Amino acid sequence: MALKKLQHQYKQARKRFQADFRLSLITLFCLPAAIAIGGFAVFRSIDGNWLMAIVDLLLVAALLGILIFSWCTGRTRGAGIVLVLVTGCGVLAVVYLAGLVGLFWAFVDVIASFFLSPPMFAVPKVIILTGASLVLGAEAGLGTLPLISFATTIFIVSVFAYSFAIRSKAQADELEELATRDSLTGAGNRRMLEDELRIAIARFDRDTINTGLLMLDLDYFKQINDKYGHAEGDDVLRHFATLVESHSRRGDRFFRFGGEEFVLLLQDVDLHGLETAARHIHQVIRDYLTCSGGEVTCSIGGALIREDDNWERWLQRADQALYRAKGAGRDTIVLADPEAA
Ligand code: GH3
Ligand code: MG
Ligand code: MG
Repeated sequence: MALKKLQHQYKQARKRFQADFRLSLITLFCLPAAIAIGGFAVFRSIDGNWLMAIVDLLLVAALLGILIFSWCTGRTRGAGIVLVLVTGCGVLAVVYLAGLVGLFWAFVDVIASFFLSPPMFAVPKVIILTGASLVLGAEAGLGTLPLISFATTIFIVSVFAYSFAIRSKAQADELEELATRDSLTGAGNRRMLEDELRIAIARFDRDTINTGLLMLDLDYFKQINDKYGHAEGDDVLRHFATLVESHSRRGDRFFRFGGEEFVLLLQDVDLHGLETAARHIHQVIRDYLTCSGGEVTCSIGGALIREDDNWERWLQRADQALYRAKGAGRDTIVLADPEAA
């Protein structure tokens, strides 16, 4: 049992690591850095340099603390900024206490800054760090030429790290968009929907905060394709998605379930709230959605989470309600009874 739970947690962690670009970078930076600096702490202790050993241990504690914070809270943006502040202070402390060898760490710090914090923070930080390192380096007796070499190489590494970080971030965003969004309508895709349904069920089990699910299906959509062409069908789908998104509440989430079926998730609603929202969307579609042949309508099936629901059952109950709305002649709303077994 315990082994199964451990296996499940490992799987979840691996999934998060793969899906969250910044979390993976923080992990890949903090773990090796903590191990390497931990090694230095041991070496300094053996050498009897207690001050340096304490600084190293403080750095290891800070790196591990930031790593744990990132995994527990998911707040990786703030964690990244704190992390590069810590590494910057660490570099200056090491240069100040250990002399010129500390300057090597400035290169690691520059790369971390551009990868783990936003450019508007990383650029001034690297400039300040380089300036402070140059002052400390000069005080430690580094000549003019080595100081210029240090500044030049830091500059080249900065430009390279900056460009690479920007490109990687853009590609990661694009990949995430492709993996989670429907390209025609911009609504969330089915994969994203399943994740959100799981999250909603977990929230209901934990805090009894209910989420409403509306399944929306365009009426006689095949006829639009058949009569006016596939391109016009696509336009209707796009317009439908824009209308639903612009007339739903801020926190509501909208997904394309497949074909001309969509799902709207409404957080923290009761049956009355779900019905009001369904009526509102239904009326908006009636009023504004048209094709060359005239008005286009939709049918809506809805369900709140019930205590015995898993996400599949919840979705199925909304789908059955939609089926009943179709059976009742279309252009109508049916909500599943939250009490019925
Ligand atoms: P009902 O009122 O019972 O929902 O009838 P319907 O015609 O809307 O439903 P049906 O399931 O018979 O047809 C759905 C059609 O949606 C068939 C398919 O060609 C079309 N469709 C699915 N995806 C797309 C798409 O991306 N673009 C376009 N233009 N059509 C699509
Ligand atoms: Mg349909
Ligand atoms: Mg359909």
